Amino acid sequence: MKKIIFSIAIMIISILILSSINNLEKNINEENALLQVNNEIQDNTLSGNNEEHKENNELEATEENRETSVFTSESIPQDVLQKMIGNSIPEKSKDKVNIDELSYLRITYWGFDEKSHVGEMVVNRKLDNDVLDIFKEVYEKKYPIEKMKLIDEYGANDEKSMADNNTSAFCYRVVANTNTLSNHSKGASIDINPLYNPYISGKTISPTNSKKYTDRSINEKGVIKKGDDLYNAFIKRGWTWGGEWKSKKDYQHFEKKI
Ligand SMILES: [Zn+2]
Repeated sequence: MKKIIFSIAIMIISILILSSINNLEKNINEENALLQVNNEIQDNTLSGNNEEHKENNELEATEENRETSVFTSESIPQDVLQKMIGNSIPEKSKDKVNIDELSYLRITYWGFDEKSHVGEMVVNRKLDNDVLDIFKEVYEKKYPIEKMKLIDEYGANDEKSMADNNTSAFCYRVVANTNTLSNHSKGASIDINPLYNPYISGKTISPTNSKKYTDRSINEKGVIKKGDDLYNAFIKRGWTWGGEWKSKKDYQHFEKKI
């Protein structure tokens, strides 16, 4: 009888042990499942954070672009004026130039390197808003301009500035090989990518290293064509293009009567 009781007791203990092991396993499984769910939640939160972070970066990038896009007009600053005198304002012509009629512009342009750059330009005050609007429009269309420095950086030597493909406007000077004062003297003309868009009059080509570009069928970055984005931006605001003059051609040159 004792043996039977003992056996039953062993069986009950065994059953209890087995069931507690089962429970333990179940618990472990449940805990694992819970852990997995937690991990998944954490993963989702992390990837959510990443997405949020990406959005922030994108926002920063656009803000950066907005910051680098500059279109301003102001009176000629003193340091710029110092550079201009003896260069784009020759000493002997100092009295003929009214500084108050000129504006100093800072312009963002789309470079040949497919990047934004901020250039400088001096134009007639009456045209400053027009010029800013034109360059805003061509910048948005990513029309390529290679350089935009004041001609004073070249000692106001037009040939040097043109040969370097530099875009510029004001310079108190006569039209090449004449005594006629150029429209550039009033800041009412702008020469754009001049190396690729030469001045041609008879056998004269300016700049002298631009012979290749006398062929106007050439399709290259910065070569101005009738009907392109640059041409349209000027023409619709009442400017004329030297590429449409009859006796001579000045493909780099846009001007407006003031
Ligand atoms: Zn010109």
